Amino acid sequence: MAKFIFVTGGVVSSLGKGITAASIGLLLKSRGLRVIHQKFDPYLNVDPGTMNPYQHGEVYVTDDGAETDLDLGHYERFTGAKTNKNCNFTSGRIYDSIIKKERRGDYLGATVQVVPHVTAEICDSIRSVVTPEVDVVICEIGGTVGDIESLPFLEALRLFRADEGRTNCFFIHVTLVPYLHMAGEVKTKPTQHSVGRLREIGIIPDMIVCRTEVRLDKDVRKKISLFCNVDEEAVVEAIDVENTIYELPLEFAAQDIDTIIIDGLGLRAGRRNLRAWRDYVDRTINAEQKVEIAIVGKYCELIDAYKSIRESLHHGGAAAGARVSIRSVSAEEIEEKGAKAILAGIGGILVPGGFGGRGVEGKILAVKYARENKIPYFGICYGMHMAVIELARNVLKLPDADTTENNPNSKNPVIHLMEEQKKVMNLGGTMRLGAFPCDLAKGSLVRKTYGKDQISERHRHRYEFNNDYRKQFEDAGMALSGISPNGMLVEIVELKGHPWFVGVQFHPEFKSRPIDPHPLFRDFVAASVKNTRQE
Ligand code: GLN
Repeated sequence: MAKFIFVTGGVVSSLGKGITAASIGLLLKSRGLRVIHQKFDPYLNVDPGTMNPYQHGEVYVTDDGAETDLDLGHYERFTGAKTNKNCNFTSGRIYDSIIKKERRGDYLGATVQVVPHVTAEICDSIRSVVTPEVDVVICEIGGTVGDIESLPFLEALRLFRADEGRTNCFFIHVTLVPYLHMAGEVKTKPTQHSVGRLREIGIIPDMIVCRTEVRLDKDVRKKISLFCNVDEEAVVEAIDVENTIYELPLEFAAQDIDTIIIDGLGLRAGRRNLRAWRDYVDRTINAEQKVEIAIVGKYCELIDAYKSIRESLHHGGAAAGARVSIRSVSAEEIEEKGAKAILAGIGGILVPGGFGGRGVEGKILAVKYARENKIPYFGICYGMHMAVIELARNVLKLPDADTTENNPNSKNPVIHLMEEQKKVMNLGGTMRLGAFPCDLAKGSLVRKTYGKDQISERHRHRYEFNNDYRKQFEDAGMALSGISPNGMLVEIVELKGHPWFVGVQFHPEFKSRPIDPHPLFRDFVAASVKNTRQE
């Protein structure tokens, strides 16, 4: 029988609830327990797939093709366990399902209400991830306690605990314990209020995780314990970690929080083994070599917009023995000032996924700069499209070459809409999504990189390489080194005679893990280090 951990948040958002949940998952896994993570988001979009990165940050894609919250990326990176479409539910998705049932007549004439129907739907969604292979479900509730939107979720959790039994559910509340510099002390009052709100709903937390910038002394913990009715040892500190987010599980391990949870749930578990994890953190912190990599995108100021790519670069860095610093470059700024002014001295250049016309010419200039100056280039999805367009314009001498996404009338549509996309009308959930196999060409760079001849990677796109141009590109030195098994779709391009130039139609960043870095990121960073040394 599975046990359930619920992670709620209070006081402010962006407390790192997702990383807290992921860290707990890692610790439980390291004790031999099989965990699955789940996230509930209280907003009304059915999924984040249609949302602007300013609203939401990255959209994380699962193997089974769900467009999900970026916290699922943390869960996968920390535990190595794959998430699926039932690992992320929004209010919109819950209501969508209820309204479909109502229209079918499933409610047999009843008045459909938040309680009991929405709450029951939420409870069913929690149970939907339970399989015989799962010991513990770790379920995070987005938003903060006190939001109107999250009320039905919290009410559902209260009911869920009554249903499943008190000892099968463990509630963790993450709060902020601010340090007031003028007063020179930390304040526990916001935490008290937040726990008070939870108690009004009928939930008493079993553990409080205090996000803090200073160490909490015994008196502070005692005070929180007393006022919030939580065991003193279950008042845990989540200090701002210095070097990398991957230090947090080690901080938690030092406070033995996995044991508190395991005991609280009456679970049996083995000894903790974090050797590989510690080794990763040590390598990250101690790397002497430095390398700077540019991400050239539309949302350069938004760290969350390219979350998985940033993490994957750090994983690659640890594997290559280098500390990666990321230069966030606005593609539009390249349009204004030219590539050299912005990219000079860079170790490697990465153009990530994207949509639409803003900044596109700047991205193409970045590709040209990388190609001509033999700087390692990694194009991901839209970044591959840009590489194809750049070569077409500047080497094949097709000056109007373009993607039909931005220029439907181009005479040389080297990137165009996939056949099955032509009849698609709705925007939500209709791209080519999820994991697809890809064959790697003999003798190619990527075949060497992966060390195998077939791979599976996750996709999220509508447009693709136009097969009418295959021969022209090959003749110009661009190898089409990854092709879908049916021979129809070009999934990888690479440039011959260049130290490292790869464009991929898929998103390798979704599958990189700190202790299992993605081979493409590993080798891209290694090539960027080499390029840095040569300068
Ligand atoms: N806009 C492009 C497409 O739809 C690329 C998408 C992406 O980069 N994820 O094909």
